Amino acid sequence: MLAGNVLAPLVSWATPETLKNWAGNFAYSTDRLYPAKSIVQVQELVRKHQNLKVLGTRHCFNSIADSTHNLISLAPMEEVIGLDPKARTVTVDAAMRYGQLAPYLDQKGFALHNLASLPHISIAGACATATHGSGVKNGNLATAVAGLEFITAGGEVRTLSREKDGEAFRAAVVHLGGLGVMTKVTLDIQPTFQMQQYVYENLPLAQLSDHFEAIMGHDYSVSLFTDWQRKLISEVWLKRRLNEGGAATTKSESETADFFGATPAIKNLHPIAELSAENCTGQMGVPGPWYERMPHFRMGFTPSSGNELQSEYFVPRRNAVEAILAIEKLRDSVTPHLMISELRTIDGDDLWMSPCYKQPSLAIHFTWKPDWPSVQRVLPQIESALAPFGARPHWGKLFTMAPATLQSRYEKLPDFREMLRKYDPQGKFRNAFLSTNLYGA
Ligand SMILES: Cc1cc2nc3c(=O)[nH]c(=O)nc-3n(C[C@H](O)[C@H](O)[C@H](O)COP(=O)(O)OP(=O)(O)OC[C@H]3O[C@@H](n4cnc5c(N)ncnc54)[C@H](O)[C@@H]3O)c2cc1C
Repeated sequence: MLAGNVLAPLVSWATPETLKNWAGNFAYSTDRLYPAKSIVQVQELVRKHQNLKVLGTRHCFNSIADSTHNLISLAPMEEVIGLDPKARTVTVDAAMRYGQLAPYLDQKGFALHNLASLPHISIAGACATATHGSGVKNGNLATAVAGLEFITAGGEVRTLSREKDGEAFRAAVVHLGGLGVMTKVTLDIQPTFQMQQYVYENLPLAQLSDHFEAIMGHDYSVSLFTDWQRKLISEVWLKRRLNEGGAATTKSESETADFFGATPAIKNLHPIAELSAENCTGQMGVPGPWYERMPHFRMGFTPSSGNELQSEYFVPRRNAVEAILAIEKLRDSVTPHLMISELRTIDGDDLWMSPCYKQPSLAIHFTWKPDWPSVQRVLPQIESALAPFGARPHWGKLFTMAPATLQSRYEKLPDFREMLRKYDPQGKFRNAFLSTNLYGA
């Protein structure tokens, strides 16, 4: 760690050994981590160094955030800059975490459209990789971005907005960490709302063939969990919006009735039914604020590290059932290494490097046991099974897809490279992950 007035190390992250990501499966290639407490400090660091990357909350499972040279963190800056009730936007420091912003917004009478499975991730890091929640009409979290402020490789402050900058803005929102240092993000907000969460058990997989759209569109946000065995979706999580009067906005039958053959849970459940639901958000239809129902895990529960690996693939929603059945055929290869899989839907968007670009999508997610050699052997089978659907991997999770294949699935990639060249001509923010996946053969 280098030290100095601007360059004091982030002691809380600096383990005696190596700086690692949240899951502990990836050790960053340098421990030179500089905290920046102001935009001027960010500019100084950017001007001073030939090569650097920004670390968010370190929740990616691969090397996307890595640097062999220098890392910087904006974690010391985590404030709300301004709420504009008329424009329905909030502007925040980019390093702020969703879990910090959400209660503030709720208290002011506002909400975000969606959240990921956990609220501990930074807004900048989440949007950089097109992190998503679920809901047939919900775009990923980056689709809520209305404006960005960032520091270019030359140290200049630049802004881009949805309103004024059109394609340049849509190019920049899902930037994979290659564009510069995001310092502020403006997000769309809406009036706050309450939600209820209901969990059902043992949905026959066959129901998806006939009723996929009805099941996934039943509520504002729907997640299916499975270990791919017994031709069952082990849990269905329905997240329902209540309107101002407190009534559910989705018409529902009696909550004690079956759901396409699944039966209502009789107690709160963890996505892995054998584990304690203590840290999960409220279920059994108990109403609560949007930010305490949309994530699966409570903000108050802050795991500092994980003991799992994750992979996720996006396929066009029109191919959802075929893709699910293709993975189900691999069950005996997949399940031994799996903790749980989750199926979610995400609406299409117009953000160039989003896996949901112009494509309403199904995301097939795998939480793996922490055994990379085994996972590494299974991923090519999954990628091959999903190849007919042009699957795109989650930018922040583990995949083995050849760069040429990945590149062929992003029609705007040549334009994205051009945009990176404009703001970062010398490749100051480029690392091995970007060189391989965006430029490699
Ligand atoms: C337990 C767990 C649950 C998860 N659940 C979900 C989920 O429900 N849905 C989903 O889609 N994903 C999920 N993820 C993945 C996660 O949301 C993404 O990996 C996300 O990118 C993590 O954000 P981060 O701030 O931790 O990013 P980091 O890993 O720290 O960084 C990610 C990228 O963002 C860049 N970056 C970060 N901050 C800045 C900045 N200020 N300026 C420029 N670039 C920046 C980094 O350089 C890097 O390229 C989960 C991950 C974990 C560990």
